[in-house]
Amino acid sequence: MKFPKRKDGIWIIILSFIVLIPNIFLFFMANTYVYEGGFAERLLFLFASFALFLLPSFFLKVRTFFLVHGFFVLLSPFETAHIYVSKAPMTSAFFATVFETSLGESIELLSSIFPLILAELALWFFYFYIGLKKLDNTWFWHSKKVRYYTLGASALVFSIIVMAVSVSLNKLHPSEKIYKTTIGNLKKGFNKIYPYNLLIKTYEIVKKEIDISKKADDFTAFGFGASKHLPISEREVYVFVIGETGRYENFSINGYRRQTSPLLEQTENLLSFSELYSEANLTHLSIPIILTRASAVDFKRYYGEKTFVDAFKEAGFKTYWIGNQSMRNEFVQRTAHDTDGAFFAPIDFDPKNNYDETLWIYLNDILKKEEQKVLIVIHTLGSHFRYDARYPKAFDKFRPSLNERDKKNVISPEFKEILTNTYDNSILYTDYFLANTIGKIDSLDAVSAFMYVADHGENLYDTEDLIVLHANSTPTVYDFHVPMFVWTSEKYKLRYPDKVSNLERNKDKKISTSYIFQSFLDLGDIHFSEEEEEKSILSDKLTEDSIHYILQTDMHIKAFETRIKE
Ligand SMILES: [Zn+2]
Repeated sequence: MKFPKRKDGIWIIILSFIVLIPNIFLFFMANTYVYEGGFAERLLFLFASFALFLLPSFFLKVRTFFLVHGFFVLLSPFETAHIYVSKAPMTSAFFATVFETSLGESIELLSSIFPLILAELALWFFYFYIGLKKLDNTWFWHSKKVRYYTLGASALVFSIIVMAVSVSLNKLHPSEKIYKTTIGNLKKGFNKIYPYNLLIKTYEIVKKEIDISKKADDFTAFGFGASKHLPISEREVYVFVIGETGRYENFSINGYRRQTSPLLEQTENLLSFSELYSEANLTHLSIPIILTRASAVDFKRYYGEKTFVDAFKEAGFKTYWIGNQSMRNEFVQRTAHDTDGAFFAPIDFDPKNNYDETLWIYLNDILKKEEQKVLIVIHTLGSHFRYDARYPKAFDKFRPSLNERDKKNVISPEFKEILTNTYDNSILYTDYFLANTIGKIDSLDAVSAFMYVADHGENLYDTEDLIVLHANSTPTVYDFHVPMFVWTSEKYKLRYPDKVSNLERNKDKKISTSYIFQSFLDLGDIHFSEEEEEKSILSDKLTEDSIHYILQTDMHIKAFETRIKE
């Protein structure tokens, strides 16, 4: 093949390289879960990326071609950062997080690999400067356009076939139809090719919005028919705390080598559950599973159903939502909106002034009203990365910590110790927050109960794969094994002695976060016609979770082996 000579040829090569940075990154950095087929598969995908990248050049002029790609160059820092941290392409759930719940979270993550991002920013400037100033806006291929058009189309078809066949060959199950497998594999394939993966993600996000809006009428009309089993005259206060990024292992109350939870250890009437596993490793997938009857296997159920908070409301309780995160998340908004009062600390993920204790102002105000029947949900920032922004200086006990490092470049296995120290300090602070929250409820002298569950865990370079943070597409047990604490007041114990003894009996049973819905209603002695006692930790009929299913960030359901530890 003979390429026509262009005097701006060198610029075209350089700009092409910039567009393809995420693909080149993936070629070098992707883990073996992404490219099971080894080096040949890596090379194949790099080739396919290049072929697909070239395709628009057959019908766009040069400058237009690079300006169109410029949009993806602007988005590529997110993709590149995700590949750098997770060793895998971005998933739709993570992509949604970038734009929906927590832009602050993404920026915080990006700031931690600062030099890389600075380089990307410089590239943006360079890219658009060259694109606008140095390129002649002529046809890419000066002559014989049609010939090259055909060439491009054939290259595309060829690469698609190669990709599909290569992936199908080792994945095809005898019972499956070949075209279905091929289409499935094609989608999988395109998910590894930037920027086509972003187009697929965008489609998936839009489709989810449409699915949810289709269920809007069901949702509005939905009711549990919930009521208090035997109404009692005493004041009742229930508090549910959603923790963030909690590792079961790192609490000393659960046997950790460091004293990270001294206050909870001294808290009377507190039980720690030892075998609770989250069903997702990303906040906005995990929260609906905790609060509704949705599960990893039946995730979309929450589109048309309400939460246990709504069930409490049906049963005559005043309900409140307090949070310092996820205020833009559609599910959180929906749930908080239907309570009697929602309070959000103003800025998501803002470092150094958004500690969980700022939520006590709202809690105190609610408790001061002395309402007789109250449920309060507190959605905390817990141990969300960056860990050093989650606690005041007084809790900087385990050193050296991230507090002593500048903000840059801390996501690397060489900082495992510093990351772990800082993470442990955030647990020490969570201990302080939870124990004092319980203290506030205890002082009311009411029939009251408290439950804390973390939404998912965290990786701190525990395994050989050197995985860090959460929401990875290659999850480990550290993503899912989460702490759960249940506290009951003296008056609660007198009123519901059987429930309390069942709690003690069940505290080492293996369960998952899809048990929380039934359990928390049972904690408030609230019943409805479709209740499932076998999923309540306050019932003597509790059945252990035999297979643990997880919902991965690519929305695939997977049976996960939780018993393997080191
Ligand atoms: Zn989370």
